[in-house]
Order: sequence, then C-alpha cells, then structure tokens
Amino acid sequence: MADRSSHVVTQENRALVDGFGRHVTYLRVSLTDRCDFRCTYCMSEHMTFLPREELLTLEELDRLCSAFIMRGVRKLRLTGGEPLVRRNVMSLFRALSRHRESGRLDELTLTTNGSRLALFADELADCGVRRINVSIDTLDADKFRAITRRGDLGKVLAGVEAARAAGIHVKINTVALKGFNEDEIAPLMEWAHGEGHDLCLIEVMPLGDVDEERLDQYLPLTQVRTRLEERYTLTSSSFVTGGPARYVNVAETGGRLGFITPLTHNFCESCNRVRVTCTGTLYMCLGQDDAVDLRAALRNSTGDDAALHRALDQAMLRKPKGHDFLIDRLGQAPAVKRHMSTTGG
Ligand code: SAM
Ligand code: SF4
Repeated sequence: MADRSSHVVTQENRALVDGFGRHVTYLRVSLTDRCDFRCTYCMSEHMTFLPREELLTLEELDRLCSAFIMRGVRKLRLTGGEPLVRRNVMSLFRALSRHRESGRLDELTLTTNGSRLALFADELADCGVRRINVSIDTLDADKFRAITRRGDLGKVLAGVEAARAAGIHVKINTVALKGFNEDEIAPLMEWAHGEGHDLCLIEVMPLGDVDEERLDQYLPLTQVRTRLEERYTLTSSSFVTGGPARYVNVAETGGRLGFITPLTHNFCESCNRVRVTCTGTLYMCLGQDDAVDLRAALRNSTGDDAALHRALDQAMLRKPKGHDFLIDRLGQAPAVKRHMSTTGG
C-alpha cells in the first residue's frame, strides 16, 4: 500500500510540463460566461448564456484551482465573462487567498470590466490581490456606452480609483479597433500613465461570431506603434508579467506600454499558460479547439482528485505547439468558434 500510495502523491505534485518541455505555471479560469456589458468585438447583442447548472460551483472552482496550484501553477487569473457578476464571488477569492498566504501562489489576480470594482476593491486587496486588469477601450462616455452596448464609464473609472485607493496596481487593457479608437490611443496612454497605470494594447482576435465583421475591426498593432513612435520615444522594457504582453517604456510619460499581438507576432514558443472555462473545459491553447473535460473528472471523483490529476496529465500531452489564428479575407467564419467570454480573456 505504502509504495503505490506514495506514487499517487507524486502524481499530485508533479509539475505540469507539455510535450515541448514548456512548464505550465499560469492558469486563467473563467468564472462565468455572463456579463453586464456586450462589447461589440466580444459578444453579440443577444447572447445566449449557459444554464446555471452547467457552471462549476464555487467549491468545484476552488478544488480545480487548488489542484493546478499543487501541480506548480504560480499565477492564477480569474476572468469571464465578467468575474465580478458571479454571485458570492468573494467567497472564492477568500478561499483561494490561502494559497497566497502559504506561498504556493505568487499572484492571484483578475481581469474585469470594472463595473462592480468599486464594490469589491477593498475586499480583493484583503484577499491578497495586488494587481488587476481593467478593460477600457475609450475615455469618451458616449463611445464607451456604444462599444460596450450599455456600460457606464463613470462607474468603471470609480472602480479604477477604488482599486488604486486599496493599493491595487491597475493595468488598463485596450483593444485596438479600426475606426473606433485609433485616434484615442495616445490620449488613453497619457491618461493611464498620468494616473500611474500601465496600458496594454490588444489586437482584436477572431474568437466567436459577433454581429460585426472582424476585418472591419482589425487594427494591426505594428501600425499603432509606428504612429506612436512619431510622437513618443519607445524603448524595449525587460518587464514581464508572466503573460503574453511585450512592454516598452515611454520616455515622455514615464509609463509602461504593453502590446499583445497574437496575429502579427507569434508568442507560442514561450507559452506557459492554459485556460479553463466556467464549465470546466480545459483549453490548452486559446487558438485551438482541442479540450479536456475537467468537470467530469471533478464530478466523477468526489473523494479524491486522482481522476482530475490524470486528466491534467493527459491534457499536457495534447498541448499544441502553436495557434492557428488568421483573419481570413475571404472566409466568413471566425478561426475559433467559441467567444472570448467563454474561454476567458
Ligand atoms: N469582462 C472582463 C473584461 O472585459 O475585462 C474579463 C473578460 S474579457 C473576455 C477579457 C479581455 O478580453 C478584455 O480585455 C477584452 O477587451 C478582451 N477581448 C474580448 N474579446 C476579444 C477579442 N475578440 N479580441 C481581443 N480581445 C478581446
Ligand atoms: Fe463583457 Fe469583457 Fe466581453 Fe466586454 S470584453 S462583453 S466586458 S466579457
């Protein structure tokens, strides 16, 4: 008995390493597919959301995240949909904060649209959240309402302020959208840096059917960077967050600017992350459809996590070398059918 059980313990602690020798140390988990916004590049106006019983419970989410942490995940990002619309979400943050306290987890963080951030900022800080990402694509309240189809910019900015007051470092995420915020990138950067926040620009990715044509939205960040360089001095920064962004320092503002460019620059070779949806589906790559069902593994074994760990081992063998994104000038279909709100941004 002792010999075999010690083998099982080894499996539950073994690092997650894929077939290409990459260590998985960063996990993103979507807590819900629901959201109080309907950003035009992310969702369609009339989204059908999953029945609640399909979602992992908060207890299951805690079990799942904890299993990953036992296997060497050091950074955990909770996302969605909008993570802060999930009922009782703070009980999950509270539970997960034990891994921060024990030193097993370096970072517990979230990506939020900020609409409910003012309500939760203090509690998040108390749970050990030190940095968060807040998505803001424009500082014009009318355009903000238009791009989110319902959002209130004032509330989001109040949330950002509350986070800062609670001692949480804020990174602003902005999706670069052709014809929408092209002319606002510099002012957004001036504002963010002036407030002491990092700014990270994201290229629109072909995920899920939305009501608009992707090609109409796609703005290559190479183009944005060239335009910024006409006015600002950008120098490469060695700053890394464990995520896919590449950073530059901006001499004129003294701030940091990140670029996430899945379409113009392939960052797969250093990929250290996997994603789990709110239904417990593990995607080894944001840009591929192959997935492993962790919900079945969780629900089939309530006594111990052996089935879950076996599923994780299987998944590691299937993590692909790279993604297949392509905004096709002829084809209508998105490269990957699921929405960003399903996989978690
Ligand atoms: N609701 C939260 C928010 O908006 O921050 C978290 C989830 S959201 C899916 C995470 C990030 O993905 C946001 O910064 C959002 O702008 C970005 N996003 C959504 N759809 C995208 C797409 N098709 N291409 C690129 N980024 C996208
Ligand atoms: Fe909601 Fe975030 Fe998607 Fe916007 S980007 S619709 S806030 S999940």
